[in-house]
Amino acid sequence: MRFRLLAETFARLENTSARLEMVDILAALLSKASPDNIDKIVYLLQGRVAAPYTGIELGIGEKLAIQSISNAFGVDVGQVERLYKELGDLGFVAEKLAANKKQATLFSRPLDVDRVYGNFYRIATASGKGSQELKVRLLTDLLNDAEPIEARYIVRIPLGRLRLGVGDATILEALAIAVTGTREFKEKLERAYNLCSDLGYVAKVLYKEGPPAIENFKVVVGIPLRPALAQRASSAEEIISRLGTCAAEAKYDGFRCQIHKKGDKVWIFSRRLENMTEMFPELIKGTLEQFDAEEAIFEGEAIAYNEETGEFYPFQMTMQRKRKYGINEAVEEYPLKLFAFDLMYVDGADYTQKPYKTRRAELERRVKKGDVFAVSELRIVSTVKELEAFFESCVERGLEGIIAKDLKAPYIAGARKWAWIKLKRSYKGELSDTLDVVIVGYYKGRGKRSRFGLGGILVAVYDPKDDCFRTVAKVGTGFTEEQLVEMKKLLDEIRVPRRPARVVSLLEPDVWVEPKYVITVAADEITRSPNHTAGWDGERGYALRFPRIVGWIRSDKGPEDATTVDEVIQMYEQQKTVSTGDGDG
Ligand code: AMP
Repeated sequence: MRFRLLAETFARLENTSARLEMVDILAALLSKASPDNIDKIVYLLQGRVAAPYTGIELGIGEKLAIQSISNAFGVDVGQVERLYKELGDLGFVAEKLAANKKQATLFSRPLDVDRVYGNFYRIATASGKGSQELKVRLLTDLLNDAEPIEARYIVRIPLGRLRLGVGDATILEALAIAVTGTREFKEKLERAYNLCSDLGYVAKVLYKEGPPAIENFKVVVGIPLRPALAQRASSAEEIISRLGTCAAEAKYDGFRCQIHKKGDKVWIFSRRLENMTEMFPELIKGTLEQFDAEEAIFEGEAIAYNEETGEFYPFQMTMQRKRKYGINEAVEEYPLKLFAFDLMYVDGADYTQKPYKTRRAELERRVKKGDVFAVSELRIVSTVKELEAFFESCVERGLEGIIAKDLKAPYIAGARKWAWIKLKRSYKGELSDTLDVVIVGYYKGRGKRSRFGLGGILVAVYDPKDDCFRTVAKVGTGFTEEQLVEMKKLLDEIRVPRRPARVVSLLEPDVWVEPKYVITVAADEITRSPNHTAGWDGERGYALRFPRIVGWIRSDKGPEDATTVDEVIQMYEQQKTVSTGDGDG
């Protein structure tokens, strides 16, 4: 196909504001495409050269575009810049210069879509030494042979200024009309698109293999699906009235991972479908060791945890893992756990159309016991009371809330339907008060921390009734390296061979110390916990969620001046008065 046809279509699209007209203009163009160029045409309409998940992004700076225009039309850079000021758009500058040139030259090789796409693709993938020069050459090459209207878009596309305003849905609709003559087929195309997030690929399958191939579209290992999304509810009643008996899963506050596996190759995609495989070596290992399948696509929530205390880190710390550099250090400091919650494909079988119940059962069979992977916690609930109880227990353990799932629903890629409904605790951020706690022991530390000999401390609050110290947290966060060293030294001076009589604890630290030092900690909130003895009622005590050191040892306070058990309970009651409504947007 001549590029000119595409350029003229772009111009017409720019001049219409009616969406239906847009669809018709596009359909007219697409009906002239062939199986060999349809994907390229679709990508160019999106101003791209490949699907977003590939990470291949077409982009050049203005300076480079100006240089290419200058080379192609034999005018100096200064003049291009002057024209740019005058016309306000480098596309128009190229168009104008191409029009002047046209009168002067007779020969040019007409541009076709393949050549334009090919040069753009090379521009997008050029890297390293000499890549700037290469990009200029490739763009100049196209401009040399461009007609005025073509020149306009050859400059705008790599600058990211195509701005035609055609969305994915409009392209899908136009594809349906171009191939089947009616809009009806759009829904099927949409489903295929949701299963692969690659508009060019869907179009190619449609043109090469015809509509039946779209109806039988299967997920492809290595190509991410658009993730299913959750609706929100403000109460358990709402959920039960919509779903009846349903699955309630713990909602973990980490980041979503879509994991693909093929033999020993693993891909990890973010919720936004970026390829993040390299960032998470432990998840690659987890997939290979704990996911029992040759080929699979599944999803889970990754969350960083403190190896010392077994507690999950707050979201901000988990986010530390989204980084390109220092990956090995980050793995040691913030190791991830993955809670698998859905299965889309396994060993030749597409699971997206199967009901949740079936997917979940298969997922449970495939996830083997181990350190890194587990399946998300699940409760089947039929009543508001049961759902509320599970929600409370999740929130008490520091989780974000629950996601209720329709037992019969398929995996609805790319859509927010009522198949998943979230109920979150209101986000309280942080306890308004800090606590002064007594250090009663310490843990030696694993991994990176082991070189300091101290990885975390066990802390307690004071119980004036029994004149004892009852534990409320393990704290492993907030120390600088110097503080870890200094703390170890101070605590070793007061170490004792066994639990001091006044310390009431279910946990056994590596080293017990005399309750002497008071230190200030902040926390996100107070939760009920079976591990700590502060406020113990026979089953549960109170614990700090995400505790961290702020400041240093309080030389002005003795252990009996620490925060008391009653104060902790009071803080807990206060935070409970905040409802469970959803705070985020
Ligand atoms: P939200 O981001 O608040 O709309 O909640 C939906 C997100 O919760 C999903 O995109 C996942 O990242 C996350 N999530 C955590 N736990 C689960 C779970 N058990 N099932 C599904 N999504 C979960």
